[in-house]
Amino acid sequence: MTASFSLPPEAAEPRLHVARRTLERLRSVPDLAPRYASHVNVHTLDRLATLPPLAKDDLNTALAHLEPAADQAATWLFQSGGSTGAPQVGYAPTGFYMAGVHAHWQPLDRTDVFVNAWGAGRMWGAHFLAAALADLSGCRIIALGSVAAEEYGDWLAFLATRRVTAIGGTPSVLRLWFAHARAAGIRLPSLRKVLWLGEAWQPQLDEDLAVVAPEARRWGMFGSTETWVVATNTPDCPADTFHPLPDQLVHADAGGLLDFTTLNPEMLNPVLRYRTGDAGELTDCPCGRPGPAMRVLGRRDNVVQVRGLGLDVAELIARAEREPGVARAQVVLTEQRGRATGVEVLLLTGGTGATPDAERLRKELFSATFTLSTAFQHDPESFRVRPVEELISNGRTGKTAGLVLREGA
Ligand SMILES: [Zn+2]
Repeated sequence: MTASFSLPPEAAEPRLHVARRTLERLRSVPDLAPRYASHVNVHTLDRLATLPPLAKDDLNTALAHLEPAADQAATWLFQSGGSTGAPQVGYAPTGFYMAGVHAHWQPLDRTDVFVNAWGAGRMWGAHFLAAALADLSGCRIIALGSVAAEEYGDWLAFLATRRVTAIGGTPSVLRLWFAHARAAGIRLPSLRKVLWLGEAWQPQLDEDLAVVAPEARRWGMFGSTETWVVATNTPDCPADTFHPLPDQLVHADAGGLLDFTTLNPEMLNPVLRYRTGDAGELTDCPCGRPGPAMRVLGRRDNVVQVRGLGLDVAELIARAEREPGVARAQVVLTEQRGRATGVEVLLLTGGTGATPDAERLRKELFSATFTLSTAFQHDPESFRVRPVEELISNGRTGKTAGLVLREGA
């Protein structure tokens, strides 16, 4: 059983006191205590593997009760899952645990000019953790954040003049940068490093980089706002394979789902067999670095990626179906070469006599759904709500799925 963990028992078990303390914290949460009633004395990996896994909702329940605070720093509140309504909150101390990441992974050095293109604000964590890493690297930092569509040209010219050597962002955002550069004929010959986090690498990036910045190589981080950075990779690793950090215990269960347990005593979120919804396996990495690497095989839940953010499809449908006059709702996600170009909610009417007010519902869903209002902040017209006579069905199986993926403009 222990072969399914990223650390061998002799390395992990002396540090399981952190997991036992997390377990005690979770047992102090009234709503979660019953499920842990029979679980004590977690001194081995085999015992750890018998603990019930923690889902995002469980973690939110725990955090609402625990309200953790850092001992030695300010406590930052970040957006943590919960794709509709008010942001769910995750916690981290200043520094965002990046000293531990930097000790094992140094994509940047003092000579770099690093563009931090992760969006800042709206309780996003990525911009700040990347800033903490860059700070530890001692490089030059250009804190750019997100820009509007019409601003890319001017900023790209500025970045070329500054001879930037590194840029970081979610792959969806990076694709916008490099697609704009390619279309405008702008080249970034000094760019050597592309840091990424937040969603899977996109092969189209390789094609654009080959033209815009042929010397650039990708450096990936894997993590979430709940776990923070779990694993990293280098240009020598496949894009879907990451090396777990020693403070992060990664487990692949028999069903092929990954879960994460923190071994860092300073971690504020109670991360104990926490499932991000990612499927994966522990494997060897072709880069040759010893020890199990984590191969991520995509998500297995109701959450789809829209421009680097998780959209909970079931939640969106449930909200639309509460509207008078809506018999059933369906979400259509349109992608063009891997990037979301639009989200449409189809409302099946009929039967009830009432006619849904699609425009009012559109406004309500847009403003109440963090992922939509953030992903489409520069093109809100890409989110639509439309009454229809029938939903889109699979002609072969006759099934009408809640989510339909379409390729197109
Ligand atoms: Zn590797």
